[in-house]
Amino acid sequence: MTERTLAIIKPDAVERHLAGKIIQRIEDEGFQIRAMRRSHLSAKQAEGFYAVHRERPFFGSLTTFMSSGPAIVLVLEAPDAIKKWRTLMGATDPAKADAGTMRKEFAQSIERNATHGSDAPDTAAYEIGYFFAGLDLL
Ligand code: GDP
Repeated sequence: MTERTLAIIKPDAVERHLAGKIIQRIEDEGFQIRAMRRSHLSAKQAEGFYAVHRERPFFGSLTTFMSSGPAIVLVLEAPDAIKKWRTLMGATDPAKADAGTMRKEFAQSIERNATHGSDAPDTAAYEIGYFFAGLDLL
């Protein structure tokens, strides 16, 4: 089933000029890029995006990092896109990520881990709507 997911090339990867390599890999793996934008989140916008994590001990650090510089936000489409992109990203902690995954190749730490991907259909719908309007996705 064709599905959409929200991907973010996080500020650490944008700052290190890794966006081109990551986007190339996205295309090589067969995803369609349905929308894409550079976005430098404010602290409030990062807190809204990660609201589900507000009780976690790393919430402050994570939202400070995510608002520290521009990110590139994409809507990816493919059969089984949510799982497919999470598999390509690899484990949250790069030390545990499989070889060939984005996080194994590009992450610096469990927090500065290069990419984000929605984890379920309901979060994908929320996250896509957080950044893009229906008219951006026709
Ligand atoms: P994801 O779905 O793989 O991105 O992981 P989570 O939803 O659990 O966490 C969201 C984001 O918070 C991760 O991608 C990391 O950037 C960050 N994060 C997760 N766990 C930790 C942690 O233990 N410490 C810190 N500092 N950041 C973390």
